[in-house]
Amino acid sequence: MEYPIIEKPPIHKMEPRPNLVDYESVRRNFQWEDVKKELDGLPGGGLNIAHEAIDRHTMTQRRGRVALYWEGKSGETETYTFAQLKEETDKFANVLTTLGIRKGDRVFIFMERVPELYIAFFGILKAGAVAGPLFSAFGPEPVRDRLKDSGASVLITQPELRRRISHMLPELPELKHIIVVNKKNRDLYPLQDNDLSYEELMASASPQFRIVHTTRDDPAIMHYTSGTTGKPKGALHIHGAVLGHYITGKWVLDMHDEDIYWCTADPGWVTGTSYGMSAPWTNGISQIIYEGMFRANAWYGMIQKYKVSVWYTAPTAIRMLMKAGEHLPKQYDLSSLRYICSVGEPLNPEAVMWGLKAIGLPIHDNWWQTETGCILIGNYPLMPIRPGSMGKPIPGVSPAILDDNYNVLPSGKEGQLAVKPGWPSMFVTYWKNASLYQSRFKNGWYITGDRANMDKDGYFWFVGRADDVIKTAGHLVGPFEVESVLIEHPAVAEAGVIGKPDPLAYEIVKAFVSLKDGYLQSEALRKEILQFARQRLQSIAPRELDFVPSLPKTRSGKIMRRLLKARELGLPEGDTSTLEDD
Ligand code: AMP
Repeated sequence: MEYPIIEKPPIHKMEPRPNLVDYESVRRNFQWEDVKKELDGLPGGGLNIAHEAIDRHTMTQRRGRVALYWEGKSGETETYTFAQLKEETDKFANVLTTLGIRKGDRVFIFMERVPELYIAFFGILKAGAVAGPLFSAFGPEPVRDRLKDSGASVLITQPELRRRISHMLPELPELKHIIVVNKKNRDLYPLQDNDLSYEELMASASPQFRIVHTTRDDPAIMHYTSGTTGKPKGALHIHGAVLGHYITGKWVLDMHDEDIYWCTADPGWVTGTSYGMSAPWTNGISQIIYEGMFRANAWYGMIQKYKVSVWYTAPTAIRMLMKAGEHLPKQYDLSSLRYICSVGEPLNPEAVMWGLKAIGLPIHDNWWQTETGCILIGNYPLMPIRPGSMGKPIPGVSPAILDDNYNVLPSGKEGQLAVKPGWPSMFVTYWKNASLYQSRFKNGWYITGDRANMDKDGYFWFVGRADDVIKTAGHLVGPFEVESVLIEHPAVAEAGVIGKPDPLAYEIVKAFVSLKDGYLQSEALRKEILQFARQRLQSIAPRELDFVPSLPKTRSGKIMRRLLKARELGLPEGDTSTLEDD
């Protein structure tokens, strides 16, 4: 089906005037150094994301502005002004330095979306350490792998989550301290072993801290991301990334001083830090954090209650809202909304059009990934939308479509989506895996792992992944991580995992397993293996599982997931010349 170009958003929604008015001329004259001038830098020199996001506002009239409106999963509320955030994050930085944390140490966070997560995150940055937020939905295995690989010395968590990983702790000799946040009246668990109480540490910490000197090249944030092979890798980002966060918040998300902003992403995912922490607060605006899970009514209720004006969400959520019905948004007062954006997976053109029909606003798709650190391709308030397209490059960034030899293809041709390196938010390495990092660059280009094409007017269109990585409800899942757990089940001989297309989640994780001799296929065994995986992996566990007599493999023994997928979908099997003979 052909979708009409949306020339302009509805005119009454064009107030205030968008920040990026003349895209072409800004792009022509753009220099990253000009962005730096809109930031402050540390007093006495240097750069630290926490200073740009929090401290600098306390020296202005924004000091008393609410930076964070928090709504807990049971309806509790808290608010924090920029001045209060400064005090809390100063205290937490003092807590960490007293514990011996030094510049460059890794401090990880395994928490639900409570204000203490945000306080801890910026406290870590102030202490000069590297912050590693993890999804609270992770099972023990993913948490262990990430803590082990990063060599994290402190973990900040909550009682229930701490219990989930207790049995893994002996495998983490580098983890020296566990700080447990026990929000009032929530948990009755006593502290375990040598755990430290967040509340007690904060009660005696000084509310003043001088940010440890960092420069734009110093590491700040680590997000684990998945590839086709091996365990997840820690993509390392530096303080200089704040330039990208800030300017894309201003231009792509069109943040204005008076906005109430809501980014629905969890900080376990890069969107939840770049756009759920850094971008709104470096732009000095108020944001809401909702701890609860997705429920269509609750989400519309949040927009109505807090008068959200700019909303950044993801395609799976939009498809779930579509499923909940077009009548539902009409039952709420959503008139505060003026701009909606989405990221993380392909946004169906139907979803863009649904936004217009159900809420009166189109949804602006944009593209980026953990490694890129900030939005690189997007739709902008004043640019016509071509539904189904990710939009055009941000000023200061040059993507292109390459052929298999890494040469630039003309417009209209499908190929590998690549970007010329050099923007400040770009990752600087994969933790302890410099060779893999190097392998992402070819012929002077950063190879994204996505396939796409660009039309003659410069709009980019997503085609698919070039590898076996799975995107499910916005999460990137490495098949290897899931397969490794499946084969630990006593009945499983081999496992292959693919992304199976799904109308809501884009893809779901589907596993194929062959059984060891002596085990018989049965419904009970299928359920048992799925349950086994769910306990270990939780949010990234397979949803479906099929038994197969054997898995297709290359002669060198690699599982051919591509073939499993083609067979599952009834598609042509393609080149099978490397297939091992049965
Ligand atoms: P992550 O690193 O988890 O954020 O995942 C990045 C990947 O998500 C990209 O390489 C794409 O495969 C996919 N992705 C992100 N944004 C979009 C988008 N707007 N359209 C299509 N795919 C997207």
